[in-house]
Amino acid sequence: MTIIAYRLQEVIAAIQHAQDASPFKQQVKLVAVSKAQTADAVREAYQAGQTIFGENYLQEALDKQQLLTDLNIEWHFIGPIQSNKTQPISQNFDWVHSVDRLKIAQRLNDARPADLAPLQICLQVNVSNEDSKSGVAPADLAALASEIKKLPKLTLRGLMAIPAPSKDVTQQTAQFKQVRQCYDALLAQGFALDTLSIGMSDDYLPAIAQGATFVRIGSAIFGARPAKVLN
Ligand SMILES: *Cc1c(COP(=O)(O)O)cnc(C)c1O
Repeated sequence: MTIIAYRLQEVIAAIQHAQDASPFKQQVKLVAVSKAQTADAVREAYQAGQTIFGENYLQEALDKQQLLTDLNIEWHFIGPIQSNKTQPISQNFDWVHSVDRLKIAQRLNDARPADLAPLQICLQVNVSNEDSKSGVAPADLAALASEIKKLPKLTLRGLMAIPAPSKDVTQQTAQFKQVRQCYDALLAQGFALDTLSIGMSDDYLPAIAQGATFVRIGSAIFGARPAKVLN
């Protein structure tokens, strides 16, 4: 067994354990975050059974996808989106987790090829109140969700968040609770959502306890990333 296959198996077991203990009784899916990892590393994880992969940097992702066309991967875009990159994102991914403004959603919709299924979308919500962070403010979520619901080639599935990093489980939990409250508020307003994309290598267990349905995990599977990512 390779080291990637071994770590993947450990992560999957931990996810299963947390899912069994979660009061939300949700099903949790793993997005293996392969940014800064090689196509060979993705292939190794795929051969160990992982089929959903997340990427942050468009050019890096496209280069890798070219080398992996023989695999049946579900590709998720999870990074910041520049508006001049919406067309290749819309054409080459199944999901986008990081939508935080209408203009980006409209451009993704307009560029989605008619022969593909609708692009699956999460809105990125900013619960840490940091000006520099991307993500829509909780107060603006419902208005944005209403507009996005009208776009025929997008399917709005739920929320994504990247809370401020913390080593403290109580703090991690408090932030995930805020995301959960935003999600519940949208459900109460009639939005048909089923996806909560929260939790990374350092905090996926508390995220699952707050109802995560996608956890996005990189380093716990692939090992530490190089300090600086090119592109
Ligand atoms: C890098 C990244 C992850 C994975 O981070 P790890 O700490 O390596 O698990 C998850 N989500 C997003 C948006 C990321 O940029």
